[in-house]
Amino acid sequence: MRLILLGPPGAGKGTQASGIMNKYNVPHISTGDIFRKNIKEGTELGKKAKEYMDQGLLVPDELVVNLVKDRLTEDDCKKGFLLDGFPRTVAQAEALDIELNNLGWSLDKIINIEVSKDILVERAVGRRICKNCGATYHVKFNPPKISGECDVCGGQLYQRDDDNEETVAKRIDVYQNQTAPLINYYKEKAILANIDGYNDINKVFDDIVEVLGSEN
Ligand SMILES: [Zn+2]
Repeated sequence: MRLILLGPPGAGKGTQASGIMNKYNVPHISTGDIFRKNIKEGTELGKKAKEYMDQGLLVPDELVVNLVKDRLTEDDCKKGFLLDGFPRTVAQAEALDIELNNLGWSLDKIINIEVSKDILVERAVGRRICKNCGATYHVKFNPPKISGECDVCGGQLYQRDDDNEETVAKRIDVYQNQTAPLINYYKEKAILANIDGYNDINKVFDDIVEVLGSEN
C-alpha cells in the first residue's frame, strides 16, 4: 500500500501514522527523518541539504525529491510506504509522480485528516505539559485531578510558548494556504480520502481503515 498522510499541525497525524504503519506493515517515511539520517551519515545529498538548512533556507524541491526517491528505493519500501510531510507542494507531487512512474508504482490513497481551525486552536491553547515527566493534559478535554499538577508524578504543568492562539492560528493558515492546491491535485486524481479528524483517535483510525480496507 502506497500512501500519503496529510493534515494540519495538531490533527493527530503522528498517532494515526503509527497505527497505519503497524496495521499495514509499511514504513513511515518523514522528510525530517530522511534529512537527519543523510546529514548524520554525511551523504552527498545530506551535505547539500545541510548547506541550505544552516542558512535557514528551505531545501529546494529537486533536492527533497531526490532524498525521498533514494529512500523509496530501499528494500523496506517494496511492499509500500506511508509518506508524511511530503509532498508539500504541487511541484513536489508532480515530481513524485514521475519518480513513482519510473519505478512502475502509483499512489493508492492520500489520507487527508481534516480538522477545523477553531478546534485546532482550542486543542492547542488548552494543552498543558508536565515539566517533570512530559505527560500531557488539556484543561477542558483531559484535565489533571488537581489544577496545575501532574496526576502521574505531581510535577508542575506548563503551557508551551507556541501554544498560544495567535501562533497556532498562523501555523494553520500557513499549512492551509500551502496545501490547498496539493489537495486539489489529488482530488482530481480521485485518490483523495478526507477523514474527519474531529473525532477521537480510535474513531479516526477506524475511518482510515474503512477507506484503506482491512487487508494488509
Ligand atoms: Zn508528571
